[in-house]
Order: sequence, then structure tokens, then C-alpha cells
Amino acid sequence: MRLRNVKGARENIAVNQFVVHNPEECKGKWRELFQNDNPIHIEIGMGKGKFIQALAQNNPNINYIGIEKYSSVLIRAIEKRNELDITNLYFIRMDAEDIINIFEEGEVDQIYLNFSDPWPKDRHAKRRLTSKEFFGRYNTILKKDGVVIFKTDNRELFDFSVEEIPLAKWMLKDVTYDLHNSEFVEGNIMTEYEERFVAEGKPINRLVAYR
Ligand code: SAM
Repeated sequence: MRLRNVKGARENIAVNQFVVHNPEECKGKWRELFQNDNPIHIEIGMGKGKFIQALAQNNPNINYIGIEKYSSVLIRAIEKRNELDITNLYFIRMDAEDIINIFEEGEVDQIYLNFSDPWPKDRHAKRRLTSKEFFGRYNTILKKDGVVIFKTDNRELFDFSVEEIPLAKWMLKDVTYDLHNSEFVEGNIMTEYEERFVAEGKPINRLVAYR
């Protein structure tokens, strides 16, 4: 998702209290920012942030960090975040390629990937958030018993991920090609994209990756 330039987005983000502006400085110290030892869950490519904001409201004992590449999208998440009375949610504007500069080894407890960009051309496969290159990065920042939970409507990206993730020496569980008609739907929080695809009658694929 890349929205048209939003006037003033960069300026507003630069002064927003819920955006971490120098995230490299928090590496190994994220618990100081949250002022507690609660687990840290992150969403990479959070878009307008509906999913992670719902999780943060429902789970006050978990710390959440939403990562989004584009200011024009992040500003929409900030607008909603400003209205919430919670202390367990921060945002970072960055390309997740650099994620190992942001988190210490094993500092993250769970990773969500929702409706990630498919990058359909083979030569762009490394940019897919479920590529073995990205799973190498997750391997570093995620604690040993942590999991990556991935949802997508895109069957090609899902089939790629089912083959690719084991190549990175991760295992898969709770794999479904139709989340909303599966046993895993209980407690599912819908993302913005998911709501749209479900309304169109598209099945949602979902997997959990672990080591
Ligand atoms: N997760 C949201 C949802 O399900 O409604 C948004 C899905 S949207 C298709 C994918 C989002 O991921 C876009 O907002 C895009 O800018 C962001 N994104 C893609 N690649 C990224 C990366 N390498 N680092 C950070 N954000 C990324």
C-alpha cells in the first residue's frame, strides 16, 4: 500500500510522541521505553494499523510495535493512535530490511505479517517478507520459542512461503487455506485488507512458522 503523498505527513510524524524516531538507539533497550518487562510483539507492514491497535487495546500486558515503510500510510495509523488511551503501542517508520539494527538478538517475542506486498516478479523475491532472507533476520531478533504468524489472500505468495520458510530451517504449523472456515478463526482479529477480501468472498491463507 502506498497512498498519494499526504501533505504534512513527514512533519507530523517527526513530532509524534508514539513514533520512535531513532529506533537504533532502542536496540536491546525496548523494555526501557515501555517501562516494563512484558513481551514484545511486532507487526511488519502494518499499513493503517487497525490490527495492531486492536491487539494493543485487548492485551495491555503485551507491548506492541508497528512497523511501516511509508509516511503517507503511517500518518493514518497515528491519527487513530492519538485517540487511544493506551501505553503499550509505538510505531516505527522504516524498511524492515534493517530490522536487525533495531532489535537485539531474541528481543522480540512474536512477529505478525499481514497481507504483505506480494512482489510477484522472481527477481524481487528477496523483498517478500516471507523470503528466506527475511526469515534469516527474524531468526536473529525473535526469541527461540517465538513464532511468526502470516496471513494473506494471495495464493501465489502463500504457496511461495510454504516452500520457502522450511528452506530457512523453520517449521510450519496451523496452516490453512481458508482461515475463516477453519478451527483457527477463533480470536482472529481482522486487518483492513482482510476485511476487504473477506467482504469480496476471498479465502484467507494463514500459517504459523516456528523453530
Ligand atoms: N497489514 C495491513 C493490512 O493487512 O491491512 C496492510 C497491508 S499492505 C498490502 C502492506 C503494507 O506493508 C504496506 O503499507 C507497505 O507499505 C508495508 N510494507 C511493505 N514492505 C515493507 C517493508 N519492507 N518494511 C515496512 N513496511 C513494509
